Amino acid sequence: MAGTTLYGGIEGGGTKFVCAVAAGPDDIRDEIRFPTAAPEETLDQAIAFFRAHQQKAELAAVGIASFGPIDPNPESPRFGYVTTTPKPGWAQTDFAGTIHRALGLPVGFDTDVNVAALGEHRWGGARGLDTFIYLTVGTGVGGGGMVNGKLIHGAMHPEMGHIRIPHDRQADPYPGYCSYHGDCLEGLTCGPAISERWGRSGRDLAPDHPAWEMEARYLALGLVNLILPLSPQRVIMGGGVMEQMHLFPMIRSQVQELLNGYLQLESIQERIDEYIIPPELGGRAGVLGAIALAQEVHRGQMPGLGSRTN
Ligand code: ZN
Repeated sequence: MAGTTLYGGIEGGGTKFVCAVAAGPDDIRDEIRFPTAAPEETLDQAIAFFRAHQQKAELAAVGIASFGPIDPNPESPRFGYVTTTPKPGWAQTDFAGTIHRALGLPVGFDTDVNVAALGEHRWGGARGLDTFIYLTVGTGVGGGGMVNGKLIHGAMHPEMGHIRIPHDRQADPYPGYCSYHGDCLEGLTCGPAISERWGRSGRDLAPDHPAWEMEARYLALGLVNLILPLSPQRVIMGGGVMEQMHLFPMIRSQVQELLNGYLQLESIQERIDEYIIPPELGGRAGVLGAIALAQEVHRGQMPGLGSRTN
């Protein structure tokens, strides 16, 4: 179609990569998924995918949603790097720079959760909001979002998965999975923590297994600790663990119980089904968010590598 501007999007996760060429959610031209291997091999696969498209049609920019920790500060010489990740081979990888140099395109770069939040803001469950949280619960736990209409950054980027929550070691002797903190929110609730604690993957646990009540309680404790300081208008929860949809009603009622009527908000007291929700873009929130980020960079609304504002 003449006149349609196409963008590249990369959702670079710790276990898999998703790359897409799209104009938006209703116009996805191509998409591939492959496992995350060593950085060179993985980035080469992404580059080959986009180069093949560049033979057919011009791309305007690329957006990257990256696992982290990362350097998201456009002023920093290490902007676009994956920094201190324990993932073998990936520490200090110049993710955005490698893509920028190979494709000759402006590149936007942010955390997987901030970019998914941007996707939900543009096309999904956070349209029209200016302050909301996007939390992912999967191999790890991460959070991002917007405050006053801007993606949350600061000194680095939020690390919402590593907040502390009460842990009753008599009720739950499992010490936690986080290699830094043991029983932080991620340490108690991520997918691998469920597998270690119960000896089976969450996918193999029945919806009435006690694992889920504990999981919902911990996630609700985490959410309350985020809702109170940030005052989000909505909370979006994605990731592999949250594909267990029966968790949603359990988390919602636990959040109401923990807040105990303190926040006099109709959205929490009467319409919590619309307050704590799965991503409307589903499993595509990350890669579509990357397309939205590429658009922002192309239009000069957000900084990127090789863009007008950087
Ligand atoms: Zn931790």
